[in-house]
Amino acid sequence: MTGMPFTGFPIDRAGLKRRDSAWIAAQLADPGTDLILLRAGQPVLEARTAADGSQALLRLSAAALGTALPSGLDTVFLGLEADGRAVFAVALPRRFDLDDGPLAGLGEVAELRGAAAGPLRGGDLALAATARDLFDWHERHGFCARCGHASDLAEAGWKRVCPSCGAEHFPRTDPVAIMLPVRDGRCFLARNAQRFPRGFVSALAGFIEPGETVEEACAREIEEEAGLKVISSRIVANQPWPFPSQLMIGLIAEVAQGEVRLDLDELSEGYWFTPDEARALLSPQGHDFDGITWRAPPPLAIAHHLIQAWLATD
Ligand SMILES: [Zn+2]
Repeated sequence: MTGMPFTGFPIDRAGLKRRDSAWIAAQLADPGTDLILLRAGQPVLEARTAADGSQALLRLSAAALGTALPSGLDTVFLGLEADGRAVFAVALPRRFDLDDGPLAGLGEVAELRGAAAGPLRGGDLALAATARDLFDWHERHGFCARCGHASDLAEAGWKRVCPSCGAEHFPRTDPVAIMLPVRDGRCFLARNAQRFPRGFVSALAGFIEPGETVEEACAREIEEEAGLKVISSRIVANQPWPFPSQLMIGLIAEVAQGEVRLDLDELSEGYWFTPDEARALLSPQGHDFDGITWRAPPPLAIAHHLIQAWLATD
């Protein structure tokens, strides 16, 4: 599926190079190396907006950056451009003021979710999300899960090592099943009372548990959340989602006849929608019923693409 936000990592991850600390140090010292910047998980974009409304990640060469940044900042190797240039992400201090010093006027810090729904697109969005995931993981995993000792960043940001017990820790990604139940030419969407205002419905979702396949998790979650029995399901899309570190796996699930029984701790209401109604839910105008205008998730979210995939096969 093309055009899904956060997908399409644009460069070679060159994962085998991460272990070569001398090579990594040489790349960081190379004035031609590109650095992208994040502050508290939010990327720094170029100040300039293109004619189509997009904004690129600010890329500074290591030479241009010079001594503008304090030393000792967390840095992760993102990969290699086709021309061999290395790309790293640097975590700016939380209080770093872009407008005070040699970086003034070059870029601006953007809230990632808002930027992902607007100016930050394609490969740059995938790079920013990957860097955010890694920095966020480092920040939350500073201590060894085995012995509690402070751990060290290793392998150019793709691992942590405990100097006390030797344990190695790797960045984690939590798989989440996102499910669209369908039956008799209609799809089922529901509102999560805690997360969504009235008038907003989405696909069902839940974490995949230890020992489960994606399809087993899909069947369990649909039965738990909506009381519906899954006959068959198929994975139609997946999407890295950095809020935080999840992999969304989208399924369309054919469900058996039977009453919907909502888990009211999770969901406040749910409805079956025809294809025309589902198209209206995805449109800017929305779908009017019961006195208000209803909407489904925007293109930023995999649920939007899941509904589109179902409409395309209906
Ligand atoms: Zn340890």
